[in-house]
Amino acid sequence: MTIDLRSDTVTTPTERMREAMRAAAVGDDVLGEDPTVRELERLAAERFEKEAALFLVSGTMANQAAVLTLTDPGDQVVLHRNSHLYNLEGGGLAATCGVQVRVVETMEGRISSEALEAEIQPAGLQEAPTTLLCLENSFDLNRGLAVPADHLEALGAFARAHGLRVYLDGARIFNAAIALDTDVAALSAPADLVAVSLSKGLSCPVGSLLVGSEDLIRAARRMRQRLGGGWRQAGILAAAGIVGLQEMVERLREDHANARRLAEGLVAAGFSVDLQQVQTNIVLLDLRPQGMRAREFCRRLAQRGVRARPVGPWAVRMVTHKDVQADEIPLVVEAAHAG
Ligand SMILES: *Cc1c(COP(=O)(O)O)cnc(C)c1O
Repeated sequence: MTIDLRSDTVTTPTERMREAMRAAAVGDDVLGEDPTVRELERLAAERFEKEAALFLVSGTMANQAAVLTLTDPGDQVVLHRNSHLYNLEGGGLAATCGVQVRVVETMEGRISSEALEAEIQPAGLQEAPTTLLCLENSFDLNRGLAVPADHLEALGAFARAHGLRVYLDGARIFNAAIALDTDVAALSAPADLVAVSLSKGLSCPVGSLLVGSEDLIRAARRMRQRLGGGWRQAGILAAAGIVGLQEMVERLREDHANARRLAEGLVAAGFSVDLQQVQTNIVLLDLRPQGMRAREFCRRLAQRGVRARPVGPWAVRMVTHKDVQADEIPLVVEAAHAG
């Protein structure tokens, strides 16, 4: 038996999803004729309190389509050093979007208005126009910190006052909303476009959504087409997405409780975990006190049937999800302790 904590992307679809997929009414989505895709997009727009939504194959495509929609080539975008957009999208910002990046350091997922202002260049012949601020919530895929709505609102207002648009990569925004005891609409209000993943904690096999105004979603749909992401009978996949939105959100609480249990168990066993940073479903383990390299640690864990991901020379990430049960958490702690 394996307990796989590498990511919540390893979750497999539920029986209810498989049934819904089999029964889905479908049509050609490029022609706007897939009723199940339309229903998923309608539900998402409603849930996020935006005018429209777009179903895409992945979070990466959602991010790329969003940046293409919100910028022109040669523009400058501001984002934080640890963002998925900057680190894990194959150089897409440069190669696909043709934008240049200004990286800010952040404290716990917060960008101060001073730090943002310092990256906004004045308009001029020599300067690249700074047109977009990209945010993430939960923040940092190796920590999963929940960024509160009031911070996002203040920063969004500041950005807007300086002529920037705001994009929110909310791959795990439902986790953030649950941790903050708020809803995704409140966290999304400051952003022009927001992405959410269906294939992480919500356990769908495939898919992400973008939500925003009618105009921006229409433009994003063109960009999705340009990226080769227009699809045909995608209702088969959207059917799982509907189950994800309707039935899988509330249970993310269990993942958070398991992450907390895991973090506390690891600390009790002598490991170094910053408990204040365990806010959603991600636990980041610092192995420097043990003097053990992350790769070596994960290799040994794997021999005991536990999979985790090295995310630095001394850092290991463990992500809880629906296919990890509460009674398996002590087994993980035991395996780590046995070293
Ligand atoms: C996982 C993730 C993505 C990318 O999603 P894929 O579906 O794997 O392409 C983008 N942003 C964040 C913050 C993520 O965690």
